[in-house]
Amino acid sequence: MEKYNLPKLPYDYKDLEPYISAEVLTLHHDKHHAAYVAGANALLDKIQDARNNNAELDYKSVLKALSFNVGGHILHEAFWKNMASEKSGKNQPKGAILKAIEKEFGSFERFKKEFSETAKSVEGSGWAVLTANLSIMQIEKHNVNLFPEQKILLCLDVWEHAYYLDYKNDRAKFVENWWNIVDWKEVEERFNK
Ligand code: MN
Repeated sequence: MEKYNLPKLPYDYKDLEPYISAEVLTLHHDKHHAAYVAGANALLDKIQDARNNNAELDYKSVLKALSFNVGGHILHEAFWKNMASEKSGKNQPKGAILKAIEKEFGSFERFKKEFSETAKSVEGSGWAVLTANLSIMQIEKHNVNLFPEQKILLCLDVWEHAYYLDYKNDRAKFVENWWNIVDWKEVEERFNK
């Protein structure tokens, strides 16, 4: 069975400051994301063991947990690539993706408002996601409410582990600040695919 790997961040831990601290980014990547990768791989081992031994397994609970962990892995992988330091020069939307967003939402400001409201209103832990067909999704935890076919263009993690040490309970401020470090070049590349 093919295992999952924790990808390296495409920038240094301090590069998203002052919007995301090195401390939060380190914990988020090295502990939280790593735990989803380890969790997914442990569950794959369990499935493989049962297969090898022709044994019974509670597939309902194992696959639910696998979906949670794999969902977490895929979302975090997309999330890291969706960000770039303020010095990167990639933080302004342009080109085909900007045109498409303006056509779909009426204006970039309207898109930003809808995406921000989506992120701010996630109940408990979850994500805001812009998909390839320019729908905005709200994901609960890592997998609930997902439209399985839709490719991710842009996603924002609003689990408390993503911001609490930096922003306490002010998720709205985190969402507002996060726009400064979006990598729009990456979004455009995914859109053009
Ligand atoms: Mn997270």
